[in-house]
Amino acid sequence: MPEPSETIFSKIIKREIPAKIVYEDDRALAFHDINPQAPVHILVVPKQPIPMLSQAQDRDESLLGHLLLVAAKVAQDAGLEQNFRLVVNNGRGAGQTVFHLHLHILGGRSLAWPPG
Ligand code: AMP
Repeated sequence: MPEPSETIFSKIIKREIPAKIVYEDDRALAFHDINPQAPVHILVVPKQPIPMLSQAQDRDESLLGHLLLVAAKVAQDAGLEQNFRLVVNNGRGAGQTVFHLHLHILGGRSLAWPPG
């Protein structure tokens, strides 16, 4: 039986299903979103499965900071320079569908504000 927290992203981390991985270190993985909403749409996930940002704990502070730094590096490596957006959907009402914390990196086109 899978762990209760196991999601499709855990399977990607364990290489049980394929993904276009662009970055990996001991704490994080980044891969292209399967349904891109912009010319560049990459997800950054912690290897440790936190279901959503609002369930993160004080002990996750360093990991959360690491994810932001990874996102900036991945955006740079993807050629987005200084023009990209990070999105964290928290909870079903905000559009979260995969309950393993992830940062969306969106770029490569003009991004409207406010978002939909
Ligand atoms: P969210 O709606 O914020 O939970 O984002 C989940 C994202 O995961 C969506 O943008 C999906 O397109 C993406 N996604 C779902 N399954 C996969 C997969 N197998 N590989 C890559 N991205 C995926």
